[in-house]
Amino acid sequence: MKDIGAIKSQSSSRRQLIKTIAYSSALVSLGGCGSVLKPKYTKRYTRPHSRKPFIAPRITKDKIVRVIVGLRPYRPSGFVVKLQDFNGKNVIHNYGHGGGGISLSWGSSALAVQQASRITVDKAAVIGSGIMGLTTARLLQDAGWDVTIYTRDMSRHSVSNVGAGQWAPTGVFEEDKATDEFKEQYKYASRIAHHAYQNLIGADYGIRFIENYYLGDKQRDESYYLREMPELFTSVADLNPDEHPFPVQYVKRTVTMLIEPAKFLKRIRNDFLLSGGKFKIKTFTNQNEVLSVKENTIFNCTGLGSKALFEDEELTPAKGQLVFLPPDPAIDYMTVGGGQDVTYMFPRSGEILLGGSHQVDDWSRNPEPEVTERIIEDNKRIFDNLRI
Ligand SMILES: Cc1cc2nc3c(=O)[nH]c(=O)nc-3n(C[C@H](O)[C@H](O)[C@H](O)COP(=O)(O)OP(=O)(O)OC[C@H]3O[C@@H](n4cnc5c(N)ncnc54)[C@H](O)[C@@H]3O)c2cc1C
Repeated sequence: MKDIGAIKSQSSSRRQLIKTIAYSSALVSLGGCGSVLKPKYTKRYTRPHSRKPFIAPRITKDKIVRVIVGLRPYRPSGFVVKLQDFNGKNVIHNYGHGGGGISLSWGSSALAVQQASRITVDKAAVIGSGIMGLTTARLLQDAGWDVTIYTRDMSRHSVSNVGAGQWAPTGVFEEDKATDEFKEQYKYASRIAHHAYQNLIGADYGIRFIENYYLGDKQRDESYYLREMPELFTSVADLNPDEHPFPVQYVKRTVTMLIEPAKFLKRIRNDFLLSGGKFKIKTFTNQNEVLSVKENTIFNCTGLGSKALFEDEELTPAKGQLVFLPPDPAIDYMTVGGGQDVTYMFPRSGEILLGGSHQVDDWSRNPEPEVTERIIEDNKRIFDNLRI
């Protein structure tokens, strides 16, 4: 009489044989198309932020719900935070944050408010209602100022509401064009902002931590912010090809915050109003009009508007386009890179965001069909070939 163990092992080896035959005939029927097989990533990979396996978003052009464009206020030598005295009227500038203004907001605005530390607390005017205007206004209120925001557009119509929302102060300056003094200011602002966002984490302000995978076919140069401030990112690792499902050679993982601008801006606008703040809709056409507001302390947070208002020759637009698909709650990671041009996928609570583009010195505000096409194709190539 055969023992149970032997029966089990015999039937399991029969199952194995059937599996092998089925697998080999599948290979034969595929002929030379070996590349269509997508082997699983082989090494057990423990995701730091999720117990779920990777799931691929389904990317098709017919699912597009909207396409938007925004002009990043870019300065190759970096953003401007400084006090300018115009015969007794103090203008404190806080503009030019390029592709990292959402990340830097609280920190850069803290630097701006510090510039007013020698001025008697009184009434302040903030010009602009994007993320810089609103965070500056909130910090001023915390310091006891009575604040009025003068703005052409409310925040939902600002560039800030277009921002993708990855916490990564990137695309802010060019390393060889920025001074050491600026770089110190940038790092200080990044650290303050990172801390401030962590204090607001949660659905209420639209902020959460999420795994972020940088994808590329060749080893990327470490970005300045990752090189200089690694402590602001957790779970940082370079993954070997057998440790991840992405169809690229090099993958770097970090865990960072994802900020949903529409939620965040709405929430801090409400905080501003609840703390006694006032809005005045006004478009300024030149510097003298700005100086004619009744407040003597004025914070200039007009983003790209500063080019005309304060004749900043260096300030230039960097046009960015985003494509949105309906939400997929199963997607719990984001990706950056892996395409022909700027490429990213951020899963928001109400939509999937696909990026992007970075067209310096382009003032046009229309979505471009060929950019949409490219964004879809780049993301589709990644997620249709996920090795899962
Ligand atoms: C496609 C895209 C993706 C991005 N992704 C990210 C990201 O992932 N992470 C990140 O950190 N950053 C990102 N950014 C960058 C970020 O959105 C910007 O750096 C930031 O929003 C700039 O904020 P701001 O308040 O200075 O300017 P804005 O949001 O442009 O606000 C300027 C305000 O000034 C007002 N104003 C301007 N001119 C005048 C005038 N003459 N009179 C009166 N009011 C005036 C406007 O009405 C507006 O209210 C992205 C940007 C884009 C376009």
